[in-house]
Amino acid sequence: MSIPFNKPYYSGNETLYISQAVNAGKLSGNGMFTKRCQLFFENKYEFKKAMLTTSGTDALEMAAILCGVKPGDEVIMPSYTFVSTALAFVRQGCRIVFADSMSDNPNIDPDKIEGLITEKTKVIVPVHYAGVACDMDKIMAIANKHHLLVVEDAAQAVDSYYKGRPLGGIGHLGCFSFHSTKNVTSGGEGGLLAINDSRFIPRAEIVGEKGTNRAEIFRGEVKKYEWVDIGSSFLPSEINAAFLWAQLEKLEDIQTKRKQLWCRYYTGLKSIAEKGYVGLPQIPDFASNPAHIFYLVCRTQDERTNIIDYLNEKQITAVFHYFSLHRSKYYTQHHQGEIPFLPMSDKYSDTLVRLPMYYELTLEEVDEVVSCIRKFFLTTNL
Ligand SMILES: *Cc1c(COP(=O)(O)O)cnc(C)c1O
Repeated sequence: MSIPFNKPYYSGNETLYISQAVNAGKLSGNGMFTKRCQLFFENKYEFKKAMLTTSGTDALEMAAILCGVKPGDEVIMPSYTFVSTALAFVRQGCRIVFADSMSDNPNIDPDKIEGLITEKTKVIVPVHYAGVACDMDKIMAIANKHHLLVVEDAAQAVDSYYKGRPLGGIGHLGCFSFHSTKNVTSGGEGGLLAINDSRFIPRAEIVGEKGTNRAEIFRGEVKKYEWVDIGSSFLPSEINAAFLWAQLEKLEDIQTKRKQLWCRYYTGLKSIAEKGYVGLPQIPDFASNPAHIFYLVCRTQDERTNIIDYLNEKQITAVFHYFSLHRSKYYTQHHQGEIPFLPMSDKYSDTLVRLPMYYELTLEEVDEVVSCIRKFFLTTNL
């Protein structure tokens, strides 16, 4: 029996809601299911406004536009993240300034941020890796002191909290993803922009509607429908919103099940971690655990390769994750100035491995993965 790395979750109601959307006769964005999903986020997490987008990448692109950054402006973010975090701001002409990760988890090290701030710095983008909160009090304090905006890349952090406050709801803007690899999906691709500073709402409605004043027309606030700003087609179809709604209804069950699997891994692997063979994820006291990813930090890159190969032989798929963006082909060819030295980011690039994690995974399967990993370390460390 093979154990894949990921399987998208299905609640069973997706096709029913999709057919309801089809029968309603309006499939373009901002229909009944879109509104239902947006209200869910606004009510449950108290976002001032929640806007569904076609992807997490698009939520970040909308956020970058709303920040009003100009070519040459600087944006601080971790190097250990997905390309989209940087790309959204690169497309606005920004210079990306990478900060290192923490030594005990891949999140941005808040103590490394202030030294990178110049008069060109406009935005800080913390990424909540594995959905586990960055130290938002520290980050918001730095941002306030230097009059910077904060965009949370909360792509992995649906239903996750910092000191009881929902992630994506602390910075000025928050970006979520409903890609099929995330805890909840809108049918493969999708995302959401959370707006927490209401100053951004009027422009967000325009930017999301291809730069038109369609939203104001709809509310009868203006008479003439016209092109008023830049923007793009950020609205997802009702089909995607219907799919997402079927999953949001089951969110509590999804999170509970994933947490159970996560804890089973943690308990099972604790003893080999205590022997110093491998590092386990650390959840800071201020953070909740949305159990998006279960990862190990190996001692060396070779050991990571060996363990991935070993698990593969046993039909278990384990995978590594990000490659530090500051060492990427694009960045090294396009940046100005020196390539920064970010040893923690490089450590996670070289040694972090993710284990199978998805709703349908069983506790018995987790035990099987755990027993393979224990066997690997106990036989290679005789
Ligand atoms: C998934 C992800 C994204 C991109 O989301 P898409 O919906 O795939 O565009 C951005 N940032 C992080 C940290 C992610 O995990």
